[in-house]
Amino acid sequence: MLAEQTDRSFKILDLTLSIISDYVARQDVNDSQALQRKLAGQETHRWLTDKKTGMMHVDAIALISAHGKLINFSRYWPIPEVDVSDRDYFQVMKAAPDLETFISKPFQSKATGIWMISLARRLNAPDGEFMGLVVGAVTLQYFEGFFRSISVDEGSEVALLREDGTLLARHPHSSAIETIMPSLAPASRARMPTVGLTTSPFDGQQRIVSARSLAQFPLRVAVSLTEESALRSWSTIAHLSNSIATGSVVMILFMAVLMTRWWHQQECLTEDLRCQNLRFNAALANMAGGLCMFNAEKRLVVCNDRYAKLYQLPSELLKVGTPHRAIIAHRVSHGILKGDTCDVAVEQKIAALSELPAYANSSRTDELTDGRLICVTRQSMADGGWVAMHDDVTEQRRSEAKIVHMAQHDALTGLPNRVLLRERVERGLTGMRRGDRRLAVLLLDLDRFKDVNDTLGHSMGDKLLQAVADRLRRTVRETDTVARLGGDEFAIVQGGVESINDVTSLARQLVELARMPYEIDGHQIEVGASIGIALAPADGDTPEQLMRSADLALYRAKEMGRGGYHVFEPALDQRLQKRRALEVELRTAIMVGQFELHYQPILTVSTKDITGVEALIRWRHPERGLISPADFIPLAEATGLIVPIGEWAIRQACETVAPWPQHIRVAVNLSPVQFKKQGLAQTVVSALASSGLAPQRLELEITESVLLDSSEQIITTLHQLKALGTRIAMDDFGTGYSSLSYLQSFPFDKIKIDRAFIKNLGSSESSSDIVQAIVSLAQALKMSVTAEGVETDQQFAIVRQKGCTEVQGYLFSPPRPPQDIERLYFSATETLVAAA
Ligand code: C2E
Ligand code: CA
Ligand code: CA
Repeated sequence: MLAEQTDRSFKILDLTLSIISDYVARQDVNDSQALQRKLAGQETHRWLTDKKTGMMHVDAIALISAHGKLINFSRYWPIPEVDVSDRDYFQVMKAAPDLETFISKPFQSKATGIWMISLARRLNAPDGEFMGLVVGAVTLQYFEGFFRSISVDEGSEVALLREDGTLLARHPHSSAIETIMPSLAPASRARMPTVGLTTSPFDGQQRIVSARSLAQFPLRVAVSLTEESALRSWSTIAHLSNSIATGSVVMILFMAVLMTRWWHQQECLTEDLRCQNLRFNAALANMAGGLCMFNAEKRLVVCNDRYAKLYQLPSELLKVGTPHRAIIAHRVSHGILKGDTCDVAVEQKIAALSELPAYANSSRTDELTDGRLICVTRQSMADGGWVAMHDDVTEQRRSEAKIVHMAQHDALTGLPNRVLLRERVERGLTGMRRGDRRLAVLLLDLDRFKDVNDTLGHSMGDKLLQAVADRLRRTVRETDTVARLGGDEFAIVQGGVESINDVTSLARQLVELARMPYEIDGHQIEVGASIGIALAPADGDTPEQLMRSADLALYRAKEMGRGGYHVFEPALDQRLQKRRALEVELRTAIMVGQFELHYQPILTVSTKDITGVEALIRWRHPERGLISPADFIPLAEATGLIVPIGEWAIRQACETVAPWPQHIRVAVNLSPVQFKKQGLAQTVVSALASSGLAPQRLELEITESVLLDSSEQIITTLHQLKALGTRIAMDDFGTGYSSLSYLQSFPFDKIKIDRAFIKNLGSSESSSDIVQAIVSLAQALKMSVTAEGVETDQQFAIVRQKGCTEVQGYLFSPPRPPQDIERLYFSATETLVAAA
C-alpha cells in the first residue's frame, strides 16, 4: 500500500509533466532558441505555478533548455540564471533519446537545504529532436512526513530508496540520505515484494523487512519492524491500512480534478488512468443533478446520465466533442424546453446563451414543457470552457412560491395582507410619479362585527369575513387591490383616480354593498361598514403617511356615526396632535392628582328628600381650569387611562360619603373599559373595606354598552358586584340600543332615564310616551326609576305623574363639591352623629 501510494504521488507529477511537455510540443517550434523565446514569459511562469498547485510533495516545476539553461520556473519570478547541465538527470536524458523519464539522485536545495529528487521528462521537437526537459523537484521531506503520519509504532522504520539502493527518505529521519544501502539494493525480481529478516544498516537491530518496487518508477519502499513490534496488536495494522486508504481517497479526488481539466488530452492517458476514469464516471453517475462540461471550443467534454435523461439526449449527442449548439438545438426543436420549437427559436436560444460572458459564472432557470424548472449554474474554467450543473428545482421553487404567497396573503380570505398592500401602494406611488393618474387608499372597517363574533361564534365570524372579502373583490377593478389588514379591517388601493368623485363613488358603492344582508349557514346577518379615504399625493406620498391619513379619516367616519365614509382633511391631523397632547397631560394629571369628585343630589319624588348623590368627576387643569368629563373621559377610555382614574373615583367616593348619614347612598359611574380589565370587583371590595362604607350604600352605574359585548366574564363580574351587596343601575337608558334583552340579562336595581327624554317632556309627545314605557318596564321588572336632568317644574310634574321614583337635575342642585353638599344638606350635628 505504501508503494502504491508513493507511486501515485510520482504518477501525478509525471502526468502533469507530460501535460506540460505535450503543450510544449504543440508550440510548433523547431529549435530550442525559439522555444526559449516563447516560454520565458511571466504567463508561462504563472501557468507552471498553477500546474504545481495542489501537489504538496512537489517543490517546483522547471523548464530546461536543450543546453541546460533554466527557461522558466514555478518558484521565482523573474527567472534566475541557472545552469543544470551538470546534473545527472540532464546528462542522462540528453544522452539517451529513448528514455522518457528519469529520477535523479537526491540533492540538497542550495536555497533551503532541503533534500529533493527530480523527476525529469524530455521535451521533443516535432521532428523528435531533444529540446530540453521539464523537471519536477520532489521534496523528500514530504515522504518522511507521510511515513511518520502512518508509522505503526516506535520500532517501525520506513524508507524510500532508488532501485540502486540510494536512500531518499526515511522515518525515523536518517542523515544517511544519498548513501547507498547495499542491503536494500534491488533483489533480482525487481517488481516483486521481498520479505526477509535482516540486520538494519541504521540501528544494527534484527528486523523483518518488506520492500516493494514502485510500479512505474525505479523506486522502492521498504518497511521494517523489530520482531517484537511486528507481533504487537493487529489493530495497529488496521490503523495503518486506514490511514493509507484515506490518503488514497484524497489522491483519487485530486487526480479526478486533474483529469477533467485535461480531458482533451485523453490519448495520453495510460491504462491506469482509464481505471481512475471509471471511478470518476461512477461519481458522475451518482450525482443528484445533471452535469456537463464543455471546452473552450464549446464542445462536450463529459456529461452524466442525469443530464442526458433531463434533456432526452440521444446517444449520438452524448459523444465527446458534440457541439454545444447541437445539444441546445435538440432541446428547443424537440420541444423539451417550454416555448417555440421553430428554427428561429433555436437560433434565439443559442444566441442568448452565447451572450453569457465566458469568464463569468452565471445562473438561470429554464422551464421545461412538462412544467419542471431546471436551474442551470455555469462555472467557467480557466481554459475557456465551462462546467454546468442542471438541477431540478421544481419542488423547491413551488414551496418557495408558497412561502412567499403565505407571507403576503391573509390565510382566511386569501386577500393580500398588510405587507403586500404596502408594496402595492408603493408601486402605485411610483407609477403616479411617472405621470399616471392619482392613487387612493380606502380603509374599510366593519360596524358591529364584534357582535356577530360574540353572539354567533368565531367560525360564523370567519365566514362573514370571507363573504365580505368576496364582495369587495368583486366590486373593485382588476387593477385595484383589496387587502385584509386583520380583524374586520380591509383596505382598497384604487389606481387611475382622476377626481375625488371616482373615489367617493367607489366608497358609496362599498358601503352599500357591505350593508346588504349576508346569508350564512341559514343565518341572516347584517353588518355595516365605515370607510376612511386618503388620496395621494395630497394626503401623503409614502405608504405610511397615506395609511395614517386614511386611518384618521376612518376614525372620523366612525365618530360621525357609522355606515358612512369620510375623506381625510388636514384638520383631522390637528385633532390628532391635540389628542396626543391631551393624553400626555392626562397621564400627568393621574400622577399629581388633578381630579376631584363633585356630587349631585338624588331626591325621592314623593318627599323631595335627598336619598343619595352621584359622584361626577372633574379635572382641575392648572391652566385651563375645571374640565368636564365629557372632554376627557372618551380619551381616557381609548387609552385605557380610565382604569386608574376609575379606581381612584371609586375609592374617593366611598371615602367621602362613608361619614355622611347612613341613608345617603353614593352612585359611581363605571366605564365599559373597566369591565374588560380583570380586578374590578377586587377594587370595589378594597374601597368598601378601607372606607368602611356599607356595600348597600354604593350604587354602580353602567351603560348598555357594557353589555354590548356581553361575554360571560362581564356578567360574572356584575354578579360578583351584586353579591357584595352593592346596587347596580342601568344609566342613560333609552339612548343606546334599549334592548329589552339587556334589561333581562341582569337583575338591575335601578334604571336611569336619559336626560335627552326628560328635556323634551312637555314639548314632545313621544318623549313622554317613552318615559311612560320605561317606567312600566321598570315596574314590571321591579326596578326603581330615576329621571335625570330635570330642569323645570313642569318636567318634574310629568315624571312624577308618570311614576318615576327618584329625580336628579339642576332644578334641585347641580353637582357640587363635597363640602357644599355637607354644608347644604347635612347640618353639622347630623354629620357629627353620622361620623360617631
Ligand atoms: P352621566 O352619568 O349621565 O351624568 C349626568 C350628567 O348630567 C353630568 O354631567 C351632570 O352634570 C349632568 N346634569 C345633571 N343634571 C343636569 C340637568 O338638569 N341638565 C343638564 N343639562 N345636565 C345635567 P357631567 O358631570 O358633565 O358628566 C358627564 C358624563 O361623564 C356622565 O354622564 C358620565 O357618563 C361621565 N362621568 C362622569 N364622572 C365619571 C366617572 O367618574 N367615571 C366614568 N366612567 N364616567 C364619568
Ligand atoms: Ca351617571
Ligand atoms: Ca346618565
